[in-house]
Amino acid sequence: MAQRNPIKQEQTLVLLKPDGVKRGLIGEVLSRIERRGLKIIAIKMVQVGREHLENHFPKSEEWVERLGQKTMKTYTEYGIDPIAAQGTADTKELGKMVKESLFKYMQSGPIVAVVVEGMHAIDMVRKVAGNTLPVFAEMGTVRGDFSVDSPAIANVEGRAIHNIMHASENKEEATNEINLWFKKEELHDYKRAEEDIMF
Ligand code: ADP
Ligand code: MG
Repeated sequence: MAQRNPIKQEQTLVLLKPDGVKRGLIGEVLSRIERRGLKIIAIKMVQVGREHLENHFPKSEEWVERLGQKTMKTYTEYGIDPIAAQGTADTKELGKMVKESLFKYMQSGPIVAVVVEGMHAIDMVRKVAGNTLPVFAEMGTVRGDFSVDSPAIANVEGRAIHNIMHASENKEEATNEINLWFKKEELHDYKRAEEDIMF
């Protein structure tokens, strides 16, 4: 194996969420990742339970609160009263509700889990994905091109945002998530044809 470089061979976890799988977008999303020169080094389809999701999503209170803040952001933007819509304006409480609906969403069908490797893989895949909230995602991103959803509607309907895919946000998340979803021997090492030319 050639010498590895932490930036050139950075790894990240991508999940095609149940809506992405059910809408037949597996190939579309993976092709967008592959055409940027990023390499798929592991892939499988799985149905997960609650315990697995507890270990996948961050356990910190800050992360739960951030989910609530995303709700507040769209409520403010679209003039929705959080108390009338959700019974609370507390971002922590809103975050807890979102977390529950997120767990339900992630168990609503099979997920395709993928490990992607390549230069700046974490940031590059986040760019391919686009903003968490499809209403704010730029055209040209997966979420911008293929989804239309916002907490302004989702939360009132008691469901999570349907945004097709997940991508690790930083190195720590990527390492934890890859270890959770894959065994070491499920990660493969091979050379892509473009590697000598693109970088
Ligand atoms: P990302 O997936 O972009 O990393 P987060 O980690 O903040 O975003 O959130 C995890 C997932 O939870 C999102 O992809 C989305 O499906 C769902 N979600 C996030 N915020 C909200 C919200 N305010 N209301 C409903 N669902 C949400
Ligand atoms: Mg995240």
